[in-house]
Amino acid sequence: NGSIKKPHFVLVPFLAQGHMIPMIDFARLLALNGVLVTVVTTPVNTARFKAIVDRANAAGLIIRLAELRFPCAEVGLPEGCENVDLIPNAQEYGAGFMEAVSLLREPLLRHLREQWPAPSCLVVDSCSPWAVDVARELGIPRFVFHSPSCFFLLAGRNASKVKPADPFEPFLVPDFPHELQVVKGQALQFFDYPGWEKLFAEIKAAEASADGLVINTFQELEAAYLDSYSKALGKKMWAVGPVCLVNKNLDDKFSRGDKITSVDEKFISSWLDERDPKSVIYVSCGSVAINSFSHLVEVGLGLESSSQAFLWVIKKVEMTPAVEAWLEEFEGRTRSRGLIVRGWAPQILILTHPSVGGFMTHSGWNSTLEAVTAGIPMVTWPHMVDQFLNEKFVVEVLRTGVALKPRILTMSISPEYEGLITREDVEKAVRKVCFGKPYALVVFVIGPAYPLELGLKEVNNDAHVAILGRTALSLASKKTKLYVISG
Ligand code: UDP
Repeated sequence: NGSIKKPHFVLVPFLAQGHMIPMIDFARLLALNGVLVTVVTTPVNTARFKAIVDRANAAGLIIRLAELRFPCAEVGLPEGCENVDLIPNAQEYGAGFMEAVSLLREPLLRHLREQWPAPSCLVVDSCSPWAVDVARELGIPRFVFHSPSCFFLLAGRNASKVKPADPFEPFLVPDFPHELQVVKGQALQFFDYPGWEKLFAEIKAAEASADGLVINTFQELEAAYLDSYSKALGKKMWAVGPVCLVNKNLDDKFSRGDKITSVDEKFISSWLDERDPKSVIYVSCGSVAINSFSHLVEVGLGLESSSQAFLWVIKKVEMTPAVEAWLEEFEGRTRSRGLIVRGWAPQILILTHPSVGGFMTHSGWNSTLEAVTAGIPMVTWPHMVDQFLNEKFVVEVLRTGVALKPRILTMSISPEYEGLITREDVEKAVRKVCFGKPYALVVFVIGPAYPLELGLKEVNNDAHVAILGRTALSLASKKTKLYVISG
């Protein structure tokens, strides 16, 4: 009837947890700012985050779901493999999964043609270049959504201008805002990635022809990289993160409230409530990274000998009877100070709990941002793709973490990775992060609305100050203290 003036954004996430989660957060941020949002999904994925969307809708935000059937059978994928973390074997099914994703093009186009109000624009994950045609057919602008860091995007792009003969020979990344040494293996997808050249060429082309770029980071954290990247591409770039801050509830606590957690949030909260402030190390490797039995043993024994309380999330390990037996015995031995979660944990709630003082992470960008915004120092243990460069950013630039092992060059977890980490590495890094000298903090208050309440002199050695950005400003209550770490 013409009375609705809201712009209508269609969000097309890539079907992986580390991509869908920030898209859903971004959907809520947009809706909070008066945008009508449609999120493209599939039945299995809908089930995972419908509770979040329902709650947003109940609060008056308008988020619709465009649920499309996922064509598993057509590409020979086992039924239900609608997300990267559900693929039983990436080597075997990875290509089929990408093909199935691209088959969503026609159904999406049909769906969007019937929508009212008509979509105003598409915001498409960088890993879903197939949606270029959808925007073109609808005659609307298309923006690329980057879920990794700008540090990674810029370093990878510029590093690929060098042609290193030896994949393990360190070299300096050209035209980078500061000196940065990498090896080819840390950003392999920008060089040659056998079997995936076509997809990477499409991703690059989709970015080059986009109307603009949206990225889950914030100016205060990545200003120089954002500036260089947007100039290099000649595109406007919106840093909209850290989008995880949208999960702050009215009581100032953080929780996504998704329905896939394997443990009761209340149980986790009360377990943490019983610990001393900053005494717990949280250990998790995200949604995709695969660990072997020997990793498990080394991490477990390292945690045990660190004498630190721990909350350890275990997934993506083949649960053979031998693994189960070892875990049960380990759990029995460490029960007084350790908690193991098998499956999915409420990560945001954990990281923002005052008892948590460190995070051993695979350095996925979402996990990194969640730790950064919660002011939690990290032990970095990258496994694949952007995680090696995220580790460099955290360890060398932000200096809010220590590397579990300073030289891991493999592109992904592979047999040669076995044995590369030891219990001694784990113990040493955990002790350093949890008992070591805290990181140097330089604190600035952002925005005139927040008077300087905390001077530098008041930041004592125990402080872990959260790094927040503009998103925090728009979400913060008046009583929230906001500080930004600079340099
Ligand atoms: N996550 C969670 N519980 C888990 C594991 C992961 O809530 O048990 C969330 C985590 O908070 C983050 C995302 O899943 O938002 C993982 O994204 P990230 O980029 O860190 O890693 P990926 O899974 O893509 O490797």
